[in-house]
Amino acid sequence: MPYNKVLLLAWERIVSMTVRTRIAPSPTGDPHVGTAYIALFNLCFAKQHGGQFILRIEDTDQQRSTAKSEQMIYDSLRWLGLDWDEGPDKGGDFGPYRQSERGDIYQQYAQQLIDQGHAFKCYRTPKELDELRAEIKADGENRALKPFDLLLSEAEQQQRANDGQPFVVRMQVPESGTCVVNDLLRGDIELDWSMVDAQILLKSDGMPTYHLANVVDDHLMQISHVLRGEEWINSAPKHQLLYQYFDWPMPQLCHLPLLRNPDKSKLSKRKNPTSILYYQRMGYLAEAVVNYLARMGWSMPDEREKFSLDDMLTAFDIQRVSLGGPIFDLDKLSWLNGLWIRESLTTEQLADQLTAWALNRDNLLTVLPHVQARMDTLSDFIPKTAFLVAGQLTITEADFTALKLDTNEQVKILQFCLWRFESLNDWQRDALFAELSGLAEAFELKLKDFLAPLFIAVAGTTASFSVMDAMALLGSDMTRARLRHAIEVLGGVSKKQMKALDKAYRGLNTGQ
Ligand code: GLU
Repeated sequence: MPYNKVLLLAWERIVSMTVRTRIAPSPTGDPHVGTAYIALFNLCFAKQHGGQFILRIEDTDQQRSTAKSEQMIYDSLRWLGLDWDEGPDKGGDFGPYRQSERGDIYQQYAQQLIDQGHAFKCYRTPKELDELRAEIKADGENRALKPFDLLLSEAEQQQRANDGQPFVVRMQVPESGTCVVNDLLRGDIELDWSMVDAQILLKSDGMPTYHLANVVDDHLMQISHVLRGEEWINSAPKHQLLYQYFDWPMPQLCHLPLLRNPDKSKLSKRKNPTSILYYQRMGYLAEAVVNYLARMGWSMPDEREKFSLDDMLTAFDIQRVSLGGPIFDLDKLSWLNGLWIRESLTTEQLADQLTAWALNRDNLLTVLPHVQARMDTLSDFIPKTAFLVAGQLTITEADFTALKLDTNEQVKILQFCLWRFESLNDWQRDALFAELSGLAEAFELKLKDFLAPLFIAVAGTTASFSVMDAMALLGSDMTRARLRHAIEVLGGVSKKQMKALDKAYRGLNTGQ
């Protein structure tokens, strides 16, 4: 074939390929800033190529997924202006877009892999798996669990099947060698097969794991580019192998740098507020949050700090993503937000923003039931509720000294509550009440005394309406940020103290 014909064909392929990108958040807990960050880059990449951006809901963890959390993903992404072309709420030609509704599809593909010898049923019990791992370690080997480790004799396998014992479906993986995965930003990445385990594809409840579901869905939804967080690099060999097993073309992978805490660890809710709702409640503008997330991994060609989503869409080039771990810096976000408020809003627009943010009828109707009984005049309203919209409170150590308990005990209460709240998925008044009264009992304290430091931390005073109601209104991230701040105000916790507290907390848990 003449060379120019080859070039023409290659060009036609690029032109005819529709770029389709997606995000696949799990609807568990509050919507995460990391989801918005990845969504932003997927949206920009798709739009730059005239393609589509898809929202798929990864709700295969039936225990933790909730409809409320799914709704919060929609609401928070819409608030940020990161809209999608296809999704569970919008439909599209490649649905259903909720993985829990695609169970039969995954079953069918898992069966295909079993039939072709690329996957197998594994009846090993959790205890056996622990033992196998311990054996590998005892042999001084540093490698993953492989299919041959898991193999049972024919008779044993048959016996367990006949007994109706639970099983999972696992994939076959090579024992050793190097796997090369291509990444749009990083080029070829080499990974060691010995570290890749015989990944579970279907769990014992028949639900797929992320690995099977994401490969099957990306293929069936004709996703051309997978832009996701760099924490998935180590999973890429498994995904590439699954594409080979199915004989499907593989989408182009692109791993974006992770957002990090100031200490460089992965952005986590233990150290930083990660909920988009927190940033909304803190009074950041959607435009500034998007601008800030964009600046986390990317720069405009002229390197300017302040730009809109439209500016970014116009100038987007994925190669301008920088791979260094971007640090999530709240001071910088506040600075940028200030620029947006002062430079980009007219007074009228600012009034509209404030109204939409907190001073609207819906919000008043939510808050008023808690304060109406304490009001003599309308002017009581703002002082009694200011803490709900105050962002960070200006409390001092002196605010805590009037309380009955000593500082150490107060810090202990605040830290224990913080730990409890980190794992509390159901952020409702009743659930909070149950947690806190359980803890107060474990401390052998009257609820009133136990709650006093929480009142100061959350509302700035003990003379406020119910602190559980206040926490429910403020949300999990804002509440936890206030508890962390209160602990700092009380002098913080040294590493040594933290260790002791951690031990006491564990003792408390097991003692229940
Ligand atoms: N549920 C995964 C996450 O949110 C999806 C990862 C992916 O994009 O493949 O991290």
